[in-house]
Amino acid sequence: MSHSDVVIAGGGLAGLTLARQLKQEQPNLSIFVAEKRPHPVPEAAFKVGESSVEIGAHYFQKILGLDPHLRSDQLEKLGLRYFFPFDGNRDIARRLELGPARFPPVPSFQLDRGRFENYLLRTIKEQGIDVVDGAVVRSITLGPDRHTVSVQHDGHVFDVTGRWLVDASGRSGLLRRQLGSTRASTHLASAAWFRVSSRLKVDDWSTDPAWLARVPSRERWLSTNHLMGRGYWVWLIPLSSGSTSVGIVVDSTIHPYDRINRLERALGWLREFEPQCAEVVDAHAGQVEDFLALKQYAHGCERVYSPDRWLLTGEAGVFTDPFYSPGSDFIGMSNDFIAEIILRDMRGDDVSACIEVFNSTYLRLFDAFIRLYDGQYRLMGNAQVMTVKAAWDNGCYWAITAPLFFQRRYRDAGFIGSIEPLMRRFFVLHARVQGLLRAWDAADASSYADAWANVMDVDVLRRWQADLAGPALDDETLRMMLGRNLETLEGFARAIQDLASRTDVDLARFVSTGPSPDAFDIKPFTFTPVPSPVEA
Ligand SMILES: Cc1cc2nc3c(=O)[nH]c(=O)nc-3n(C[C@H](O)[C@H](O)[C@H](O)COP(=O)(O)OP(=O)(O)OC[C@H]3O[C@@H](n4cnc5c(N)ncnc54)[C@H](O)[C@@H]3O)c2cc1C
Repeated sequence: MSHSDVVIAGGGLAGLTLARQLKQEQPNLSIFVAEKRPHPVPEAAFKVGESSVEIGAHYFQKILGLDPHLRSDQLEKLGLRYFFPFDGNRDIARRLELGPARFPPVPSFQLDRGRFENYLLRTIKEQGIDVVDGAVVRSITLGPDRHTVSVQHDGHVFDVTGRWLVDASGRSGLLRRQLGSTRASTHLASAAWFRVSSRLKVDDWSTDPAWLARVPSRERWLSTNHLMGRGYWVWLIPLSSGSTSVGIVVDSTIHPYDRINRLERALGWLREFEPQCAEVVDAHAGQVEDFLALKQYAHGCERVYSPDRWLLTGEAGVFTDPFYSPGSDFIGMSNDFIAEIILRDMRGDDVSACIEVFNSTYLRLFDAFIRLYDGQYRLMGNAQVMTVKAAWDNGCYWAITAPLFFQRRYRDAGFIGSIEPLMRRFFVLHARVQGLLRAWDAADASSYADAWANVMDVDVLRRWQADLAGPALDDETLRMMLGRNLETLEGFARAIQDLASRTDVDLARFVSTGPSPDAFDIKPFTFTPVPSPVEA
């Protein structure tokens, strides 16, 4: 029986990146990884989770040193792009568009997951990590001094023991299920997706010169393109291997799961709600490579890090939603917490207090992120409210949650403790604004078209995004910066409320504190509604 400092059950995105990070930070650490699937795995038609945003991209690029792989073997992403519904969704050029014309200062990437995981597994072997593919974890026995994992490989079963056990088994959630610690979510969203073995470029969907001129490079296809409607969004993500990933994500209380859970049904749903996209997909019907669907994917967990020396990362712990692509962000944040816990323990420190801080910080982040989505899918068809929401949600991310990661402070329990009042103020504000946006949507049934907005045109937002890659800040400077950013967000929240209450005065009751919006150069987007046929 072999013994390692760390045994990782599951070598997918979270497990492979964690192994790489641990070995980088502590080369003497012995690590064993069991991955069920035999490698190499296929490119393109492999796993879902192909779009990264700033935290996840920074984690891969800089913290794990994967920049050369990302630059040469994956695609740099032209930000997030949204098209809101108009007139049956038959003409992309008329739909109100939110998205950048140029690559943002801090990059992110579209990931071909098969290609990425093949590279990760191969290179962690070269780092000296004991990783076995085609190896199925059959049981986990937690013990007082060491944990035992029983692994089946090549027809044989063997045991490995570890001082630390990390469950990175993704949706299998081996330990979470064994401990009965899954927390069901009230966010009832589901998804279906497939890959098509050629490029589906939205740039080719219209010849309208004004529309084409907005993104002169004709590289809209490098964005994560979202086709938005009430209760749903459809993604189009290009993969470096040449395929395109297409996904339908729905609030199942508005669009029932059984409308999308088979390929023919999903295509029928597309023809009804996104006919222009359906026409393009139908023209490539012979190139569909796979089809998968997942019912009610969001789940929480009672605890993710335990003083009994077990830790959960990736989807084995919690999962919120794919909108804004935070899956890799959560992997980066979680792996950072886990690396800190294990490395301190190996140095002989008492890690019980930091485990509690990290566990509650991570679960609070999960709670804050799930509020972005829970009850909010109905807003997705409302161009006015949803563009403001996207600017607000991006602002919160670039002003508070992402700088803490880029400045490596999540893993500093003392620093996190020192900003507790600020974070509480931030989480309360964030929840209030989500309530305001929900109520605004309920009060506004207008339709919008023929317009374009770009969050990168808002000075403060562009600066916050660019500042993520700024120099390392000392504790005091970072605390001051977060305080200033939160004040600006408070002014932004008041400005959103002022705008919303033009639709309905009752909406002026959500954000009562904070500075006057006039003190800040940040304003919500405003559009003129298309007159209804009666008004026209
Ligand atoms: C519809 C949808 C869309 C998404 N889109 C995005 C996105 O655009 N961007 C993003 O960042 N995230 C996205 N995500 C989330 C993303 O998929 C996850 O964050 C990511 O895949 C989780 O990685 P993981 O390592 O936890 O799980 P996985 O990558 O699934 O890895 C788990 C591994 O454990 C192995 N395993 C399971 N059981 C065993 C066992 N018994 N023994 C040994 N090995 C085992 C599996 O083979 C697998 O390789 C999306 C999720 C969904 C549901």
